[in-house]
Amino acid sequence: MQRVFSGIQPTGIPHLGNYLGAIRNWVTLQEDHDCVFCLVDLHSITMPWDPQTLREQTLGSTACLLAAGIEPTRLYNQSAVSAHARLGWIFNCVSRLGWLNRMTQFKDKAGKNRENHSAGLYVYPNLMAADILAFHATRVPVGEDQRQHIELTNDIGQKFNHDMGVEFFPQVEAFIPPAAARVMSLRDGSKKMSKSDPSEQSRIVLTDTADDIALKIRRAKTDSEPLPSEMDGLSERPEARNLVSIYAAMSNETPADILARFSGQGFGPFKNALADLLVERLAPVASETQRLLQDEAHLLSVLRAGAERANSVSEPIVQEAERLVGFLR
Ligand code: ATP
Ligand code: MG
Repeated sequence: MQRVFSGIQPTGIPHLGNYLGAIRNWVTLQEDHDCVFCLVDLHSITMPWDPQTLREQTLGSTACLLAAGIEPTRLYNQSAVSAHARLGWIFNCVSRLGWLNRMTQFKDKAGKNRENHSAGLYVYPNLMAADILAFHATRVPVGEDQRQHIELTNDIGQKFNHDMGVEFFPQVEAFIPPAAARVMSLRDGSKKMSKSDPSEQSRIVLTDTADDIALKIRRAKTDSEPLPSEMDGLSERPEARNLVSIYAAMSNETPADILARFSGQGFGPFKNALADLLVERLAPVASETQRLLQDEAHLLSVLRAGAERANSVSEPIVQEAERLVGFLR
């Protein structure tokens, strides 16, 4: 059975982009893959953080993922399994500065003020490669924004194999959904929807109430033209294209199906229908999340059991990598 690894940062409550780009596919992959899902808390301190907020968001994300249908035994938090940090360090020494300099996520997150960001943000992709390869995972369900990091994972794995003279790490394949692989901000169609966007109006999160969802969709940026009959007509209208794509992904239809229903109309009726659809699909996740959050001890025990399992899989792999490197035990 193919092994799948994927992670999400506990930097906030998971949003619609995380759901459509990643979590929804994790739930499907569980059926016929050996899955490992991780709250990557080591990654989440690469940007400034507050310890109490990190604790709360790790629990909140755990509740959300369980509510969305992730099996409890497959879930843990990264810092509880030492394989990540140990292999991450080895990969810091395998990866090349030239490779990291090309990573667009670092450029997006660091912005103009590069000098003032953490070294951790810069080597984030090396740790991500370690996350995946510590499990010898071969499939990684991610959104489009992570494609470049998966390519780097293969470069690092191959360089390790080449330098150590053994075929130790497998090739990794990004598993990017055909629809909604890059959900955009509701406020700006040129930016992806992100947990770290300061505007709460930019994203729908998995704990939003029906009223929150309706309001955010009503306020979502659009334009004054009616909806066209073809997707080509949306090529210069990123906000409208984003909403149509969200609708299609959420209802498992094609964007063409959606346009066939709403073309020629303004955004009013379309937004009402989209809000209803989102409420119908997400409200059960929100209420189950609230229920799970009542029992913190249960959430902690889920993470502990998941970490034990993750440790038993990754430990022999990372010990072998350490032996190949030349570390004595
Ligand atoms: P942050 O802003 O803190 O980086 P994020 O919103 O980018 O948070 P991550 O935890 O970095 O979320 O990513 C978790 C998963 O969700 C990854 O697989 C990523 O590719 C996917 N993802 C993130 N944003 C989107 C998006 N807007 N559309 C589709 N998939 C997304
Ligand atoms: Mg991200």
